[in-house]
Amino acid sequence: MLIIGIDGCRPDALLKANTKILDSLWENGAYSFKAKTDEISSSGICWTGMLTGVWHEKHNVLSNEYKNPNIKEYPHFFRRVKHSRPELKTYSLVHWAPLHKILQSGDADVAKTFDSDEAVTIEATTTLVNKDVDVMFLHLDDVDHAGHSYGYHPSNDDYLSAIEVIDQQVSRIIHSLYQRSNYKNENWLILISTDHGGSDTSHGKNTNEHTTIFYIAAGNAVKKGEIEEQVNVIDVAVAAMTHLGIPILDEWNLDGRPAGLK
Ligand SMILES: [Zn+2]
Repeated sequence: MLIIGIDGCRPDALLKANTKILDSLWENGAYSFKAKTDEISSSGICWTGMLTGVWHEKHNVLSNEYKNPNIKEYPHFFRRVKHSRPELKTYSLVHWAPLHKILQSGDADVAKTFDSDEAVTIEATTTLVNKDVDVMFLHLDDVDHAGHSYGYHPSNDDYLSAIEVIDQQVSRIIHSLYQRSNYKNENWLILISTDHGGSDTSHGKNTNEHTTIFYIAAGNAVKKGEIEEQVNVIDVAVAAMTHLGIPILDEWNLDGRPAGLK
């Protein structure tokens, strides 16, 4: 299970940018470019939704300060993975450190923060080729930096360039998967999404430009083509656990669904 989170990437800009690997993943996978993130479209709220499978009313992360997250009731999905299948190795490699504030002891075998997307990419590729890894979450931040600096918009070349750089990094990450010695016998699901869009040089509001996101699922487990139902950021954790064979219990009270899977 590989999840790649591209911070602050508008779907219309992704479609406009020259992105070879991302295009091949959605064209051969399941996808939505009309998916929705949390109505409070700030990073902490949305990443927490993606990784817990519930909206902010339940996970209670209401700003990037992460005051009082309700991780006892709605933990990071790594915790549910470890509870059901403790043998699985979980990795979280991120550029934006606060993402890890919802991790509890034992959730991640490896949780590391890096000061650049390039450093995340190098660690991810080395790990995927060589290590016993079952679940990996990666966070790349530079598209969001470009949005804050130059503007979140498909007509903005600086913003598109940042997406194209990420596409190269995603390409290296995906190709490192293929180099795994046992790749042919493994059944990787790749989910790629973002936490929010933006307009001008900000985000955080409940507007279409801020809350519309993309969702791409690739691998043998997906039902190819555009996903007809409404897809939401909270579907990522649920799709990931479903792929890992973890039964989604009613008592967990999750909001997401396993979007794009057969
Ligand atoms: Zn963000």
